[in-house]
Amino acid sequence: MTLLANHLPTAELQAIDAAHHLHPFTHSNQLAEKGVRVITAAKGVWLKDSEGEEVLDAMAGLWCVNIGYGRDELADAAARQMRELPFYNTFFQTTHVPVLMLAKKLAELAPGDLNHVFFANGGSDANDTNIRLVRTYWAEKGQPNRDVIISRWNAYHGSTIGGASLGGMKGMHGQGSLPIPGVAFIDQPHWWAEGGDKSPEEFGLERAQQLEAKIKEIGPDKVAAFIAEPIQGAGGVIVPPETYWPEIQRICKEYDILLIADEVICGFGRTGNWFGSQTVGIEPDVMTVAKGLSSGYIPIGASIISDKIADVLRRTEFSHGYTYSGHPVACAVALENLRILEEENIVDQVKDVTAPYLRKKWESLADHPLVADVNIIGMMGSVALTPDKATRAKFAAEEGTVGFICRERCFANNLVMRSVGDRMIISPPLTITCDEIDILIERARKSLDECLEKIIADGLFEAA
Ligand SMILES: *Cc1c(COP(=O)(O)O)cnc(C)c1O
Repeated sequence: MTLLANHLPTAELQAIDAAHHLHPFTHSNQLAEKGVRVITAAKGVWLKDSEGEEVLDAMAGLWCVNIGYGRDELADAAARQMRELPFYNTFFQTTHVPVLMLAKKLAELAPGDLNHVFFANGGSDANDTNIRLVRTYWAEKGQPNRDVIISRWNAYHGSTIGGASLGGMKGMHGQGSLPIPGVAFIDQPHWWAEGGDKSPEEFGLERAQQLEAKIKEIGPDKVAAFIAEPIQGAGGVIVPPETYWPEIQRICKEYDILLIADEVICGFGRTGNWFGSQTVGIEPDVMTVAKGLSSGYIPIGASIISDKIADVLRRTEFSHGYTYSGHPVACAVALENLRILEEENIVDQVKDVTAPYLRKKWESLADHPLVADVNIIGMMGSVALTPDKATRAKFAAEEGTVGFICRERCFANNLVMRSVGDRMIISPPLTITCDEIDILIERARKSLDECLEKIIADGLFEAA
């Protein structure tokens, strides 16, 4: 990898960033004090920063760089498309080749009768589309009062007004008077943190049955849909007990509630199948996709919907769309990304080779004094940090304090591993090799050791 030499010294770049750039999900003043790391290039699973350090990106950017960094084919596809047709819309009796080919490809890849695609620019706005889409569906079917969408606490569905409302992140709801009306919540199936004395199986069933109770409380004739990530990502990579999803599916069928699977992270191989819905064995009516759809090389998202819903929507004008819905360059890049995923058998390689290897290595962290609740499915994993594994205790310090220390140790050891509260999570590019997994685990263990050392020294290794 060649380092781009044509940039200012790091300190100057940091100063400009601090002066003018407001970062997402960031306390800007705290960040300015610490100084940002300037990422300048990337190849495979490796980032390079402005100081020439090489960092192993165990988060695939933001869960999105599924095929790894540095694939020229995607750059070429974008350049070709920009020269040929950089933009055109599909609002007024026109279409273009990349958008229709991508819609066809997604219909082929998506399971069941999910054969129709509405394009967005990312996951958040695709979920906004879903809100309008499921409500319009029920209105067209003569049930306009059926407009409530049930979601889960600690779910992540994006950061637009609609996406953040569907999400169950209380900190996000706290800013900007969210959620919007017509969204209700049930608890998450997070056994380790919330399961108490119950077995995971019992607990999974109980949390699923909260959906039925909530539907009855609201009134089945008022509920439009249930939305969930097959595996919660931003909430902390929480793999639900096996009893959970079959019961959710049963309830949705019984009450005729549409099931929206938010596949923004789980889609395109992350869980070892093309879609997380296949991994957890559900048949959604709508799937939200983004991130891995283009491996993050360009913004694009979509709602993939069933024949049943499309047949109804087609009867009316759906008064909704984005200027960049089905942007030709984004579609061309996504098509090239899907071609690579398919032709290089990346999803099978994950399922058969690298995910089992990562599982073995990730689970080996369980003997670490800080580590409990080792979750791993496909190429997404998490561990809980705890002062007492036996009692599944939280730390006495404010939630996230220890996770943050661990994340800083990782960063210092040139490993991008993210913290969610006091959980550490990974979601590396699907193309990570077994040798690179070894490096990931080695750096993770070293960082955990240093974190433990530091929290003992700081008097933080204490249960609440
Ligand atoms: C990232 C994410 C979103 C939001 O996607 P953006 O492209 O950031 O708008 C929605 N749902 C899930 C499950 C996500 O992980």
